[in-house]
Amino acid sequence: MLKCSWCMKKFKSGKPIYGQNVKFVEGKKITNSSGRIVHIHLESRNTSVPMLVPGKDSEADKQGIDGIFPICSEKCGEKMRNALSKEISTIQAVNNTIQL
Ligand SMILES: [Zn+2]
Repeated sequence: MLKCSWCMKKFKSGKPIYGQNVKFVEGKKITNSSGRIVHIHLESRNTSVPMLVPGKDSEADKQGIDGIFPICSEKCGEKMRNALSKEISTIQAVNNTIQL
């Protein structure tokens, strides 16, 4: 069951799901789990959060997106962007939030 990577609440059906796109630092990209959900440890939050790994040669992959954090609301997205921008040892760039 997919949960919001910020507040950890399960997504309700019928509500929009947002995705926070990120690009990993060179060499940190996850390549063995494409198309799957992995758990990424965030130093600043001291916890692991779910992240979708784009499938190889998917549209996201072609756009240079290495990971998508599922987000339940704009508010969670804003907090997540803040947290992710501190993860400079793994995350190189925090891109726009998209609707999944
Ligand atoms: Zn949330």
